[in-house]
Amino acid sequence: MNRARKSNTPLRGRSRSNDEHDLRARLTTLRIGHGYDLHRLVEGRPLFLAGVQISHSRGLLGHSDGDVVLHAICDAVLGAMGIGDIGQHFPDTDERYRGIDSSELARHVAALMRDEGWSIGNVDVTICAEEPRLAPHRHAMRNRVADLLGAPITSISIKAKTNEGLDAIGRGEAIAATAVVLLEDAPGVQREV
Ligand code: MG
Repeated sequence: MNRARKSNTPLRGRSRSNDEHDLRARLTTLRIGHGYDLHRLVEGRPLFLAGVQISHSRGLLGHSDGDVVLHAICDAVLGAMGIGDIGQHFPDTDERYRGIDSSELARHVAALMRDEGWSIGNVDVTICAEEPRLAPHRHAMRNRVADLLGAPITSISIKAKTNEGLDAIGRGEAIAATAVVLLEDAPGVQREV
């Protein structure tokens, strides 16, 4: 068993042949990241989800516009690159980010991603909201995220569900979102291995 394990880890302690370089390059082609965010719903704020303003009686409270979808996506992209989270890059103690359109944050994160030689493989988002009904806005939200990240709309999935009336989300006091992002080497990138 030990012998088999050793033979399956050829990269450690050996000189690198071209084959090993190729294998290593393939192994570093994909990175996965996960993001989660939740904001409280309050009166007197517009509701923004995935960079789209959605007609509703309440909006999400936050230092920025409270867009949980874009925040979860940003965290997933930053997480895939291993460079922290949205709170580190855009601190809520910084007055520059007060009331900021989260689309600007997403554009900034997408630029970081490109600078590091990555492109979007795909994005899969789940929004948990008791209301409003989000299905009619799904195409606009996918389109907006695709535009912000510089990815085709076919690479962007946005799903929505209720919380079956349970807990703060179910009582309509908050909206949450999770995002999983796969990054792949941008075309033409020769990553150092
Ligand atoms: Mg947030």
